[in-house]
Amino acid sequence: MILDCAIIGGGPAGLTAGLYTTRGGLENVTMFEKGMPGGQITNSSEIENYPGVTGEITGMDLMMPWPEQCQKFGLKHEMVNITRITKKDDVFTIYQEDGSTTDAHSVIIGTGSSPRKVGFSGEDEFFGRGVSTCATCDGFFYKGKEVVVIGGGDTALEEALYLAKICSKVYLVHRRDTFRSAPNTVERVKRTENIEVILNSSPDEVYGDKMGVTGIKIKNTNGEIRNIEVPGVFTFVGNNVNNQTLIQEDGSFLCDVTKSGEVIVDITMKTSLKGLYATGDMRISAPKQVVSAAGDGAVAALQVISYVDELLN
Ligand code: FAD
Ligand code: NAP
Repeated sequence: MILDCAIIGGGPAGLTAGLYTTRGGLENVTMFEKGMPGGQITNSSEIENYPGVTGEITGMDLMMPWPEQCQKFGLKHEMVNITRITKKDDVFTIYQEDGSTTDAHSVIIGTGSSPRKVGFSGEDEFFGRGVSTCATCDGFFYKGKEVVVIGGGDTALEEALYLAKICSKVYLVHRRDTFRSAPNTVERVKRTENIEVILNSSPDEVYGDKMGVTGIKIKNTNGEIRNIEVPGVFTFVGNNVNNQTLIQEDGSFLCDVTKSGEVIVDITMKTSLKGLYATGDMRISAPKQVVSAAGDGAVAALQVISYVDELLN
């Protein structure tokens, strides 16, 4: 059997694509998601900008009902890592990590992005033992203790605010003197008494013992080192595009991508390859928001419905 549509990735983009393709009449649609559906927002402790959703909710709370809603309309979900997508004539082949393959008439990809490493000594050694990229997951372990947060974007500042509610003190370390984050968030950080902002500084080394991290050395732009004794270091320095599945055997990409690997699409999420649509954080000029990723998924799905109809009828 050839699927009408294969959806790769089960974040807000993939799940919305799943909802719109199945509810729009496509019968054979499978979403391939390597973990639990929901995407990277499930790591966020707070989301306050999803339209119509008020009150303090976590990313996990927001995403919980999405898979169930899709399944109601017939979306199938396979929990598997996809290693490659190829296309021959009008058929795509989806390669799964277990060696099996699935064919599809169309593909909507929404594999998002992954946390970037900062690049300091001890980052790998202490990852999961004091170094973390997830405040919702690990913040509780530092209840009443001091922690360091690295980064100057929306994620770093929002997670610093979250951690400040649990921890006794948060040191927010940023390499420049201005933040990339939204002005409103910067103001909230400045108003929070137990957040100390350390600007023009980067982590030099995280150190510790068998139990985990015991401290971090921060170097400022003048070369001065400050030692901060903390058991937890949270890094939020952006993400890499998850475009590996588009890389072909000869190293080329299945469709056009930018220098930094973002998939080039038009306003209907069409890539340079017929039948392939890219959505969410992985596509060019993505606003990197849940609402826009969901919007991309809907737009791509509506395109796919027409594309498959034209192809098969
Ligand atoms: P993702 O959510 O990244 O989902 C991609 C999915 O694809 C993942 O589930 C992944 O497991 C899967 N996948 C990847 N590769 C493969 C593969 N090879 N095979 C199978 N599955 C694969 N946005 C807001 O609007 N408001 C906020 O308050 C907000 N807060 C945030 C806080 C944090 C901590 C972070 C990290 C992001 C936040 N964002 C926020 C941004 C938002 O999470 C993203 O814009 C959104 O999740 C992008 O959705 P997506 O579907 O494109 O990708
Ligand atoms: P980001 O916006 O790319 O910010 C990354 C931050 O990390 C930047 O401040 C950057 O410094 C710093 N950095 C990068 N590499 C570093 C290194 N090696 N050492 C030290 N610092 C380093 O990433 P993000 O905050 O994860 O956000 C990703 C996207 O999701 C953004 O588009 C963001 O707007 C969106 N998002 C939105 C919300 C929201 O709307 N509420 C919440 C979270 C995320 P420089 O500033 O010097 O480059």
